[in-house]
Amino acid sequence: MRILLTITRAAIDAALERIRGHGDPFVELPAGVRTDDGVLELLCPMTSGAPSHWLRAAPRVRVFELPAGLRRISHHYWASFDRGRQPLHRLDLALFPDGRGCSAAWLDEADVHRVAEVRVVGAGLERWQPGDEPPELFGEVPDDGAFSRRIGALGGEAVFARQRALSVAIVGVGGLGTAIGSLLAAAGVARIALIDHDLVEPHNVERMQVFADSTGASKPVAHAELLRRTAPWTEVVSLAVPAEHPRAIAACAAADLIVTAPDRDGPRLVAAAVAAAFLRPHLDLGTGVHGDGTDIEAGADIRLLLPGHCAVCVGGLELAAREQPSWRRERAGSLRSLNTLAAAIGCRLVEQLVAGAVGESRWLRLRSGRHGELETIPLAATPDGDCPLCGGLGGVGMRVLRAVEEPAGLVALSRRGARPA
Ligand SMILES: [Zn+2]
Repeated sequence: MRILLTITRAAIDAALERIRGHGDPFVELPAGVRTDDGVLELLCPMTSGAPSHWLRAAPRVRVFELPAGLRRISHHYWASFDRGRQPLHRLDLALFPDGRGCSAAWLDEADVHRVAEVRVVGAGLERWQPGDEPPELFGEVPDDGAFSRRIGALGGEAVFARQRALSVAIVGVGGLGTAIGSLLAAAGVARIALIDHDLVEPHNVERMQVFADSTGASKPVAHAELLRRTAPWTEVVSLAVPAEHPRAIAACAAADLIVTAPDRDGPRLVAAAVAAAFLRPHLDLGTGVHGDGTDIEAGADIRLLLPGHCAVCVGGLELAAREQPSWRRERAGSLRSLNTLAAAIGCRLVEQLVAGAVGESRWLRLRSGRHGELETIPLAATPDGDCPLCGGLGGVGMRVLRAVEEPAGLVALSRRGARPA
C-alpha cells in the first residue's frame, strides 16, 4: 500500500502558529480518505462543516515540530514508542523549523507504516519525501537541451520537475478544453485525463485542436490522438463519459489539478465538488461571444481556485437560466482565437502556481471590446458566504461520492450550489 498525505499549506501554517504561538505540543486535524488501486491517500484538513459523524470517524493527522537535527528520521522512529491506547488510524507529520520537508508515519491497529509522499497544496505545489531533505524550490537552469528555454523561464529545474510531475484531469474537451490540453501537454505534464462524452461534429472540428478528419470521433479520443503525436512525453487517457460518471470522478480525484472547460455548468459543479472534496486546485475556463453584426463583444473568465475557494463561492455557477450575459455561456458563437487566449492565461496561472509565485486563488476576466481594446481585469477571489462545497465538502474525500454519483445527490447539490454569478 502506497500511503500519501495531501495537506494544504494553510493548514500547515495554522498548525505551526498554534504550536509556536500557544505552546500546543501538537495539533490534530480530521482527514478525508481516497483509496485507489494500492493507494491510500489522506486529505487534510476535512472541513469542520462536514457532518459530525464523518468528523468523528475520520482518521487524524497529528502535526508537530521536531528540531532540525531529526530531519532524516524514518517511520522506524515511531516504532520505538509505546503506542499504548492512542487513537488508531493516525498519520503523524513532523515538521522542521524552516517549514519545509517532513518526517511522517501512518499508525494503524497493526503497525507503523512508511508514508511515501506528502503533497502540499499551495504556492509551489511541493512534494516531500518524508525523512529526506526537501527538494530545492528553484534549482539550476541548464545551458541547452530539450526544455532548457522553458526551464529558464519557469525559474529552474526544480520548478520544471514539479510541473512535469503533474497529473491533470480536463472536464470538457471542446474548443477551450483542447486549447488548454495542448498547452499543458506541451508544458510537459506527466498525465492528462480527458473527460467528455460528446462527439466531434462538423461545426466544431475547426475550433478544436484535433486532426481535420476527426468528425464523428469521440472528443477526448480525437484530442488524445493529436497529443500523442505532438507531446509523446505526456500519458493521455480518454474517458468518453459524462463528468458525473464514476470513472470520470475517480480520474479527477486522482489528478493533482482539475481543469474545467465545458459549455454547461453541470459538469463544472461536479468537478468543483470533487476539487473541494479532494483538496485539488481547480482551473476553470469559460469564454463567450455576445451581440451581432459589428456590435460583438467577447470575453473570458479564468478562475484558479485553491482549497477553501470553489467555482460556487467565487464567481458562481449558472445552473438556472438567467438574464445577465456571462462569458461562460456561448451566445453569438465561439472563436478559436479567444479560446486560445483564455487557455494561455490559465496555463500561465498554473505555471506561476507551480513556481510558487501564486499561492492564492485568482479570478481574471478578459474583455475583448468592439474596437480592438483588450483588457484583463482581476476580480476579487473572495468566497461569497457560507459555501456548500468548501464549507460542507472540503477535504471529505470519497464521502463526496454519494453527493455526486446519485441523481438525487447531484440535484440537491445543484440547488445548494445555484447562486447568481
Ligand atoms: Zn466554495
